[in-house]
Amino acid sequence: MTIPYAIDIEPRATIPVAGGSAVFPVRRIYCIGRNYAAHAREMGGDPTREAPFFFQKAADAVQFCPENETVQHPYPTMTSNYHHEVEMVVALKSGGRNIEEKDALTHVFGYAVGLDMTRRDLQDEAKAAKRPWEVGKSADHSAPVGPLHPVSSVGHPSRGKISVSVDSEPRQSSDLSDMIWSVPEQISILSLYFELKAGDIIFTGTPEGVGKVERGQTMRAYVEGLGAISLAVV
Ligand code: MN
Repeated sequence: MTIPYAIDIEPRATIPVAGGSAVFPVRRIYCIGRNYAAHAREMGGDPTREAPFFFQKAADAVQFCPENETVQHPYPTMTSNYHHEVEMVVALKSGGRNIEEKDALTHVFGYAVGLDMTRRDLQDEAKAAKRPWEVGKSADHSAPVGPLHPVSSVGHPSRGKISVSVDSEPRQSSDLSDMIWSVPEQISILSLYFELKAGDIIFTGTPEGVGKVERGQTMRAYVEGLGAISLAVV
């Protein structure tokens, strides 16, 4: 017998799979902080291989952005310093605890281009006051992401250009090979803290050049091999 829900449930956030009709159901969004040396320095951190750190966004912060289309991205409330962070996104088809680095990639379903949108003023206040980061990092719509490219079509990207421009002006430009912690390392370390499961996605960190976007501007985020997404901030 199925026990009825007391209220209607919101559908799960999903990300369409490139070149197919299926959608990937999102369970959790994990993000890694300071995973490119030059960005660690610009945020006042130490770019050596100190242990990576993680935070989460609400799963329904996903905003799907089809390729070859500019989607409207709502400027969030309670900020006057809203930042783009372009990141490669890893989607898991399976998971576990204490995953070894050598096995980590077997859990990956695919990859996408994404943006870890950040209310930087609120994040900075939280850091200064030693408070949690949610208001800075987990705003509604703060996880724009493009179509998910399965491993069967793109393999496991470990090098290639990653960039974002605002109104065609280059803002962030780097290479995936500049990550401090590789994708297998991130999965392995993250699985020490959480039991990873099918449907989890990981934002793998952003390179240097993070900056402000305003209403009326258009962001274009790109990862080589994974395409580009375009968002008009409204
Ligand atoms: Mn980030």
